[in-house]
Amino acid sequence: MTERIPKANFHTHTTYCDGKETAESMVQAALEKGFSALGFSGHSYTAYDESYCMSREDVQKYIADVYALREKYAGQIEIFCGIEQDFGSNEPTNVFDYVIGSVHAVERDGLYYSVDESPEVFARGVREGFGGDVYAYVKAFYELESQVVGKTNADFIGHFDLVTKFNEGNRFFDPEDRRYRDASLSALEALLETEKPFEINTGAIYRGMRKMPYPSVSLLKEIYRRKGEILFSSDSHDGASLGFGFDEAAGLAREIGFRCVKVWTKNGFVDFPL
Ligand SMILES: [Zn+2]
Ligand SMILES: [Zn+2]
Repeated sequence: MTERIPKANFHTHTTYCDGKETAESMVQAALEKGFSALGFSGHSYTAYDESYCMSREDVQKYIADVYALREKYAGQIEIFCGIEQDFGSNEPTNVFDYVIGSVHAVERDGLYYSVDESPEVFARGVREGFGGDVYAYVKAFYELESQVVGKTNADFIGHFDLVTKFNEGNRFFDPEDRRYRDASLSALEALLETEKPFEINTGAIYRGMRKMPYPSVSLLKEIYRRKGEILFSSDSHDGASLGFGFDEAAGLAREIGFRCVKVWTKNGFVDFPL
């Protein structure tokens, strides 16, 4: 059976940050896929790492570009101008249609260690920032994660367990270990209180780095059990990846028990029955 899936994605990058295609090229890819809505979410400016995010000047250009595309493609597709606000970013967010709250780095003694860059950088962060104690690193990550909605004013939560990105085959830690479970579940609990949806993020599957989306099945079950809400994100950095894996994500969500996902509209989130 083909699952009912939303033809929309709200986690989309462009060449203004670390995406591979222009905003217009992403709109065209979305139209080819029959999407009814596309939300852009450039990486907010972070002073601790300028390599992956938009510069302050580019943020203004990004907004103008997306607004112009919204006009140009009106009647064909609904376009939103959001932002993926990093925990360490202090830039204003009130000009955007919505905010994704994401943690991409952990901080120790004023130094930032990327969670997201490569296995080597992950290992260096554990070694140099946390004396080799990977569970201390994980704990620091989830302490930030637990506050991500308050800090970024997020409308939804980006890749909740990004700290597992390079952990295929339990390369760095065991997610069944009590220390991992305690840290992740206490962040989950804090975020559930905000009533903001969690994304099921398929981006790293498309990029060949993982076999399953964020968050893990066991965390998704926990979200379901505690009446949390979800939406689908392909965290797209190119047009081909828009909506990638949404049918599998819908199958997984249904299997766990979810009967609807959220989609963003000009009136905020609405339910989309699965
Ligand atoms: Zn992200
Ligand atoms: Zn992203």
